[in-house]
Amino acid sequence: TELDPADQQLARDLDRAHVFHSWSAQGALNPLVFAGGEGARLWDFEGTQYLDMSSQLVNVNIGYQHPKVVAAIKAQADVLTTIDPKHANLARGRAAQLIVEKANLTGAEFEKVFFTNGGADANENAIRLARLYTGRDTVLSTYRSYHGNTGAAIVATGDWRRMPNQYARGHVHFFGPYLYRSEFWAETEEQESERALHHLERVIQAEGPDTIAALLIETVPGTAGILVPPPGYLEGVRELATRYGIVLIADEVMAGFGRTGEWFAHQGFGVTPDLITFAKGVNSGYVPMGGVIIPPAIAHAFDERVFPGGLTYSGHPLAAASVVATIEAMTDEGIVENAKRIGDVAIGPALDALKAKHPELIGEVRGLGCFWAMELVADAASRAPLPDAVMAGIRSALVGRGVLPFVQNNRIHVVPPLVVTEGEISEAFGHYDAVLSEIRLS
Ligand code: PLP
Repeated sequence: TELDPADQQLARDLDRAHVFHSWSAQGALNPLVFAGGEGARLWDFEGTQYLDMSSQLVNVNIGYQHPKVVAAIKAQADVLTTIDPKHANLARGRAAQLIVEKANLTGAEFEKVFFTNGGADANENAIRLARLYTGRDTVLSTYRSYHGNTGAAIVATGDWRRMPNQYARGHVHFFGPYLYRSEFWAETEEQESERALHHLERVIQAEGPDTIAALLIETVPGTAGILVPPPGYLEGVRELATRYGIVLIADEVMAGFGRTGEWFAHQGFGVTPDLITFAKGVNSGYVPMGGVIIPPAIAHAFDERVFPGGLTYSGHPLAAASVVATIEAMTDEGIVENAKRIGDVAIGPALDALKAKHPELIGEVRGLGCFWAMELVADAASRAPLPDAVMAGIRSALVGRGVLPFVQNNRIHVVPPLVVTEGEISEAFGHYDAVLSEIRLS
């Protein structure tokens, strides 16, 4: 389709006039405008192209406008665009079947899926399941995490649905492993893993094991800095959860559906959680979708007992059809395998080379698959983070060069769509190098 350059200004003007943005002071925003995309590239109405190293909010795993997913949404739209979740729907049943199949690839025995609109409500419902299943209250999660932005709506609700759900309580936090900025004076991954597990066990004991319903962790914490857990840590968490009868919830909203080079990140660590939450990559956000993957023991605990949770759009047919097409296309086209390969042969080596070239500026690089971060520092010895103003300059310089980066605090996350090519990675790293070479810290 022809793009009208006049729409560039119109899109920006309408946005500034009428759109209230997430997580922002509204006054000084100057959003980029995008009109279309394909694969790992996007363009605006004036034809300026961007190479996407962000996957938006790390969700466009399959790339832009995958023809099979777009076709599936269109086909479902011709048949039935919406349905009350209490009715059976073929697209939703197929989506649940495929999701369970992928969750069981390494021998797990998950059985059912509860569908939500995104990641936050997936975590809400996983916590609800864990609390009802265990009869306990407390939820443990790490300080360095992001699990979503909901919580008050059901407590504000006036009818019976409020009473079993006043759950905005009982949250306790602990520190997970992060060797580069260790809370445990650790100098090796083994020490970090061992001491972080000791700390977690002490938190469990101090809170009272009989009160703890769930341990909610991002398998690989994403927004917090792509903190790949050291060897032994996830196995240790699994062991503690089992020993104390705590439901282990793996938040795979960002790490799942191929991002780490596995269908689910935990599969690469040889660990099986009790509940899995997902969203983002399940259909690359083509239509909002998320959910909880549930094993038989927890699913059947609600055979007689009412599950007090639900959403008007749970398993929405357009979203469900896009999930089916996404999983089929990712399987047929080896997209998860590509994510792993690109991490091993392109992103990892390119980050190592970039760090070798800028040893004063890049404190650490870490990641796997298409899920990497470089940590930028003002001083390599003290590891002081590069200031926000410098990071903002880096971001604009990259955008000016036609790269859409993911900048978070003092880090650049390298998180392209999983269909990215080696050529595109090398193009992006040419720009990262050029921009880092221009930085002068006085
Ligand atoms: N969990 C994780 C690990 C996430 O990264 C996010 C979003 O970035 C969420 C949950 C929340 O997902 P959503 O924004 O779809 O509610």
